[in-house]
Amino acid sequence: MKKFKRIAIANRGEVAVRIIKACEELGIETVLLHSEVDIQSRAYRMATKTVCIGPAETAKSYLNIAANIEGALAGGAEAIHPGFGFLSENADFAEACDKAGLVFIGPSAKAIRALGDKVHCKELAKKAGLPLVPGYEGEQQEISRLMAEAEKIGFPVIVKAAAGGGGRGMKLITQMSDARELIESAQREALSAFGSAKVFIEKYLDRAKHIEFQIFGDSTGQVVHFFDRECSVQRRHQKIIEEATSPSLTDDLRRRMGEAAVAIAQLGKYKGAGTVEFLLQDGEFYLLEVNTRLQVEHPVTEMVLGVDLVKAQILTAQGEFVFNPQQMRVPHGHSIECRIYAENPYLGGVPSTGKLGKVDWPEGPGRRYEYGFEDGDEITPFYDPMIAKVIVWDESRPRAIQKMIRVLKESTVFGVHTNIPYLIEILSHKEFVNGTMTTRFIETYFKDPIPQPELSEVEKQIVEAALKQARGGAVTATVGLGQEMNSPWQSYWRGI
Ligand code: ADP
Repeated sequence: MKKFKRIAIANRGEVAVRIIKACEELGIETVLLHSEVDIQSRAYRMATKTVCIGPAETAKSYLNIAANIEGALAGGAEAIHPGFGFLSENADFAEACDKAGLVFIGPSAKAIRALGDKVHCKELAKKAGLPLVPGYEGEQQEISRLMAEAEKIGFPVIVKAAAGGGGRGMKLITQMSDARELIESAQREALSAFGSAKVFIEKYLDRAKHIEFQIFGDSTGQVVHFFDRECSVQRRHQKIIEEATSPSLTDDLRRRMGEAAVAIAQLGKYKGAGTVEFLLQDGEFYLLEVNTRLQVEHPVTEMVLGVDLVKAQILTAQGEFVFNPQQMRVPHGHSIECRIYAENPYLGGVPSTGKLGKVDWPEGPGRRYEYGFEDGDEITPFYDPMIAKVIVWDESRPRAIQKMIRVLKESTVFGVHTNIPYLIEILSHKEFVNGTMTTRFIETYFKDPIPQPELSEVEKQIVEAALKQARGGAVTATVGLGQEMNSPWQSYWRGI
């Protein structure tokens, strides 16, 4: 296959920037396919070309297959990278790209259908004898049948949308008397969010860890794994902090889970980057699902292995990425990623939008920042609130935790609230430090909003000065920004 001259990016924010950087490494030009509001973004400023594909509403722009294809062709691209979210796991989009003569940078539409669909994937895994969470994935969707299946599995159970994702549309049912209401509400939610009311039911594992394996299928069809990540720190089933490798795996478990991950990927004839997710409880692992795309938390794998997964995705699509088993690397040191959300940690995480003031991600050894917005950009209410990711690497897990806390304390975001103070609390918690956290860690220890710190007089002066500067007014107070000033108030202020 020939080398790409120009790749279109069907995404936004930090992942669009990440893809542009990988293209730059390979000397490939980029076309950013963006919505009307995303002209205020780092990706917009970095891309070689930009094509507006529609208004802010995702259905009319980022989720609109025809608009993305037209935009890519108009921008002179030969391939499309879908990033994650939006159309990245949409088999129809992969197919539409093929039809239009564009290379979809990801697995084939067939592989997406086989593995990306949760129910199909479970059927495939069952046939291959892989361990699954006990449950019901059948076609029969009458409420009486679903209730009977839930009772048979034994409470607590979890109901999920068959076409779902992103932690949405899931309901935990602890007793039969709630089953009807919760299953019906899951069906309604599934229909409105994913266009299909189909649900399935699983036994709820109440002290599980979320462990996943990065898989990769090269241009020749060889499938390998790039080791594991642990993502047990979740709020409402969505990951907040991820790390590589997991502190919870023995060598034997790592080997067996890695083999299972490769086996399922091989069954789907997988090409490119993907992730096989598992739950681990009491030393037993269960396949949860396969994500047929690049994962938000891919940087922690890159940090411990010294690989560039996005570059490898592009090379695979060009037909020139061939994995050499002799070159297989072993993970080195430890890496942690924190997702930075524009939300108010003192009000339980309500979204926080507005114009960014001063934003500073200070450089240092073993630090990496993936961000999509800079000083003066507008954080709008239309999209996911994740505005950046902070990633650290150090020789050991304790050192990586220490480094992450320090880095977060030194990072500055003015203009919107962020979850930075919340992340610092989580990273300092005994259970996280010990590596014993389960997926219920947040709901157990961080149910309530964290208390808002009182600002000292000096801190108030600094905030005031920074706000004046951001507004273009004169700076009336001059105060040194020393280490001691890097307290959690940094994301306290908004209203610029
Ligand atoms: P999504 O595709 O929406 O992300 P997943 O099936 O990957 O949904 O699950 C997301 C998270 O929800 C998991 O990481 C886990 O914390 C929780 N979860 C899902 N299924 C179960 C289960 N059967 N038991 C316990 N927790 C579960």
